[in-house]
Amino acid sequence: MSSLKPAYDVVIVGGGTAGCVLAARLTQDPGLHVLLLEAGPARLPDAVAHPPAWPSLAASEAGWGDTTVVQEASGAPVPLPRGRGLGGSSAINAMVFARGHRTGYDSWSEHGAKGWTFDDLLPYFQRTETALGAAPGRGTSGPLTVAPAQQLNEVLLACLEGAVETGHRRAHDISGGLEEGFAPVDLNIVDGRRQSAADAYLTPALDRPNLQVITGALAHRLLFDGHRCVGVEYGADGRTHTARATGEVVLTAGSIGSALILQRSGIGAENDLRRAGVEVFHALPGVGHNLHDHPRANLVYRTQRPVPTALNNHGEILGLLRSTPDAEGPDVQIIFIDIPVPNPVAPVHNGFTIGISPMRPASRGTVRITSADPYAPPAIDPRYFTEEADVRAVLSGIRTARRIAWSSALAEWGIEEVSPGLAAVDEESIADHARRYFSSYCHPVGTCMMGEDDVAVVDSSLRVHGLDGLRVADASVIPSIPSNNTNATVYAIAERAADLLRRS
Ligand SMILES: Cc1cc2nc3c(=O)[nH]c(=O)nc-3n(C[C@H](O)[C@H](O)[C@H](O)COP(=O)(O)OP(=O)(O)OC[C@H]3O[C@@H](n4cnc5c(N)ncnc54)[C@H](O)[C@@H]3O)c2cc1C
Repeated sequence: MSSLKPAYDVVIVGGGTAGCVLAARLTQDPGLHVLLLEAGPARLPDAVAHPPAWPSLAASEAGWGDTTVVQEASGAPVPLPRGRGLGGSSAINAMVFARGHRTGYDSWSEHGAKGWTFDDLLPYFQRTETALGAAPGRGTSGPLTVAPAQQLNEVLLACLEGAVETGHRRAHDISGGLEEGFAPVDLNIVDGRRQSAADAYLTPALDRPNLQVITGALAHRLLFDGHRCVGVEYGADGRTHTARATGEVVLTAGSIGSALILQRSGIGAENDLRRAGVEVFHALPGVGHNLHDHPRANLVYRTQRPVPTALNNHGEILGLLRSTPDAEGPDVQIIFIDIPVPNPVAPVHNGFTIGISPMRPASRGTVRITSADPYAPPAIDPRYFTEEADVRAVLSGIRTARRIAWSSALAEWGIEEVSPGLAAVDEESIADHARRYFSSYCHPVGTCMMGEDDVAVVDSSLRVHGLDGLRVADASVIPSIPSNNTNATVYAIAERAADLLRRS
């Protein structure tokens, strides 16, 4: 059965980080009628608000439960969580709020994207935030209230001291995109509670008469009149519905979701579509390709001294550094984590972790539909660590992290490296451990890449190439991943998308 809803000026598909920003910003114009469709629920588990509980959320109804296909590097599939429900991944993430280092945005023009340098993005970064640290270049009146944790875990402070002791710069504002070195990072935590995109942007807009939000609504495919996108077919309450857009449809379903919706609509690489039994409507070879993410290797330590109970997000302090002196910018992140993450060697009940992640990975993979059925699981293959450069970067970070762990600042904690453990000292053993036991840092990007060449999916105004009335405006448009966690960049992209839509 199908029911026909009234037409909207703009239909937004996906109520995550980007979708909440767009819904809120566009409906500031009372003349614009907007529908936001979200597959997940409106009400999320109470644990969403409690910062230290975030690692439990991916397996709740607030997560999609995705895993990758078996990875060549590890011989095993890797969990790749993404959020489901209002707030999307910002409602289940680890709440680190940081711009990428400015150098990382320079490569966005490699496929022809124009006007997306760090300086171009700066006003949008600023528009998102009220940064309580008040460092130069930060926003002072945006919806997100961000600041480093007020009470930092002592074991993480010892790691910070260890970093400085071993010759690293103590940064002032590691969230601002201008610095390298180690510092407490800004967090999306306000008065001890998570602040998601739904909290900061969508909830204050919910009583506007020109905004309708439908949750539990899974977008199946896009509807076209010739080459103009005129709406979305979606499933809700066991029925199929149609939402019509007189202006534009904007996909904000994230790096996995947006690519899948395009592919189910017959938009993508011809081979991918045919293999899934979907008729080609508009060939665009880049859809679902260029998938990349930050893999993270972990050094897990047992301590004799009890580690204080976590009060924040577990990862309150991080560092950005270069794997080699001639790197164009910081390409490794080291994050100090106040719990021992699960490891393959031995259980650790009291301890901490140092996470090491290549920030500018070269490995590229794909996300593909496996069938035209919108409820069929996708094939997600990030191909982590298939490029040797990524292994070299992580090795450099592991060497640095071990020097920090062995510094005198941590001596009084009585530490023992459990995983990989000190039997792994030669490069090959450490590399082998990293390749086999890494986890996803949950930052997938790039599957609807912005640019002007053959593999680009959207142009510099985020319009899908060759079609009218259709844009993508989420993490999927990022051509190459920023050198830090991704959420702050997605907020800025969405703020800019709102400007682009309002102007057209
Ligand atoms: C566990 C985890 C930890 C993370 N930690 C951090 C961190 O600490 N700091 C940081 O900067 N970044 C972090 N990230 C990444 C960051 O949260 C994301 O980069 C960002 O939220 C992506 O925003 P988005 O709008 O592109 O997608 P999302 O926020 O994922 O939103 C996509 C939305 O679309 C919906 N959707 C998908 N398909 C459909 C469909 N067919 N129909 C309708 N709706 C659909 C989804 O349910 C979801 O709500 C983390 C992510 C995860 C999952």
